[in-house]
Amino acid sequence: MEYSRKLTPPIVSATVLTIVLTASTIVGLAQRADLTGVKAFSAIWPIVLSSTVATILVMSLLYRAIFHLLHELEVSEAAARDEARRDQLTGLANRSLLMERIDDAIRRCKTNDEQSALLFIDLDRFKAVNDTLGHAFGDLLIKEVAKHLLDRSSIGDTVARLGGDEFAILATNLDGRQAVEELCSNLVNTISQPIVIKGKEARVSASVGVVFISASSSRAALIRRADITMYHAKSIGRNCYHIFCSRIDNAVRRKALVEMRLRKALETGDGLRLDFQPQLSVDRKIIGAEGLLRWTDDKLGSVNPDEIIPIAEEAGLIDAVGELVIRQACLAAQLIPDITIAANLSPLQFANPRLATQLAELVAEYGLPCKRIELEITEHHTMLNAMQYNEIMEELRAAGFTMALDDFGTGYSSLSYLRELSVDKLKIDRSFIEAATQGRGADIIHAVVSLGHALNLQVVAEGIATLFHEKIALESGCDILQGHLYSRAVSLSDLARMVVQNPSTYMCGTVNGGTNVSTGLGAI
Ligand code: GH3
Ligand code: MG
Repeated sequence: MEYSRKLTPPIVSATVLTIVLTASTIVGLAQRADLTGVKAFSAIWPIVLSSTVATILVMSLLYRAIFHLLHELEVSEAAARDEARRDQLTGLANRSLLMERIDDAIRRCKTNDEQSALLFIDLDRFKAVNDTLGHAFGDLLIKEVAKHLLDRSSIGDTVARLGGDEFAILATNLDGRQAVEELCSNLVNTISQPIVIKGKEARVSASVGVVFISASSSRAALIRRADITMYHAKSIGRNCYHIFCSRIDNAVRRKALVEMRLRKALETGDGLRLDFQPQLSVDRKIIGAEGLLRWTDDKLGSVNPDEIIPIAEEAGLIDAVGELVIRQACLAAQLIPDITIAANLSPLQFANPRLATQLAELVAEYGLPCKRIELEITEHHTMLNAMQYNEIMEELRAAGFTMALDDFGTGYSSLSYLRELSVDKLKIDRSFIEAATQGRGADIIHAVVSLGHALNLQVVAEGIATLFHEKIALESGCDILQGHLYSRAVSLSDLARMVVQNPSTYMCGTVNGGTNVSTGLGAI
């Protein structure tokens, strides 16, 4: 560009000058009357010759200038193209360049059997780095990670930043699966080392998803698989790598299907219901029941709550599920007047600062006082964000709800925390009851009950499956009993029937299909 800019004025001036001189000389000669025939020709030919030479000279200069101009244009266009395929912050390849390289790798795999793999790498909890050390520091850290990735990759590999804290490596010319495993474990180890930037130390880690490229791969499928495998690596604890296998694919497809069907079920209300497991006083009267979510879908069949709840939480459906649970609990409380109905809350519902008001309004719609509904929340989750939970639990109790701490004994509550916590009941985790057959198990239950009573809390023993479990629970002083010894979770109509029957009927197992529960296997 510079070159042609320099050359243009002299070329233009020389051309103009040549034309003007030639024209004026010819005009001058033409006006002379004495110049005719041979005389005129001999006077004109030097002028014509010199102007021809000058024109050729000018034309060649013009040609060179145009040639250089085109060359410069090509170079700057290539630079612009390259710039457009580079990540601004790190200088690594960007997404569009990576896509081209993936297409090339698929082609090479078809033609010369070259083995390649695509790695998706996402930093773990990187948002926390930005939040604590600032976005500018986060940028520097991203650049450091980019350097590590380049250092660990080989010539011919493509290292890309896809955006945010997400990178990719297209590793080519691989020598078997082990080479990829070594590269991945090297990357994971390197990134997890402390990084010092401007005197500040930061620690990050990365989760890596890997997929091998085959001749039949499509680019879209490779990207999807690398992505879901990376998320799988996150879900199994982060700071690790995982290689794609069909099990991951099936799990993701199943999850997507469950989510889709659940959305539909929540809209129509079809197939979702609560079953109720009775809770008994020590003299074996039903005084309450815990509502347990059940879902039978036309396509999926019966879906376990352990599968439903995490999917609902991730898909943002947990508030809708929570509302359905409370509504069904209210219907049960309406139908059976003298017992308390317990419903489980998801920890994610506690992110809603209006939870207490909304639940109280919901219960009021059914003309019930809040005290008819007991809300269960796991000890583990209340520990994770004690302040926030306790504030909302206080509001729920103030509204009249009974609060129960579920799975107690597995959440590492400190005694001081427990004293502050706004609850009415402790539900001893079933694992303690199940382990009570072994030596010291009963002592632990006894200790937990004493602790609960010292804090003025009622203690519920759940998971009572045998008469021996019951004996231990009673001897330890538990106030409420729940378990398959008495009944599994049953439909609302069965629960209503059980409540009006003589309590001894449960022990004969009639509701549970006539099984003899004295063996301890009654309702299982
Ligand atoms: P996870 O382990 O689930 O990946 O958690 P995470 O916090 O890393 O979450 P995620 O990967 O979803 O989010 C990446 C965060 O990176 C979001 C945003 O705060 C931050 N981020 C995105 N782009 C940039 C950037 O250009 N510079 C900096 N400093 N931060 C960025
Ligand atoms: Mg991340």
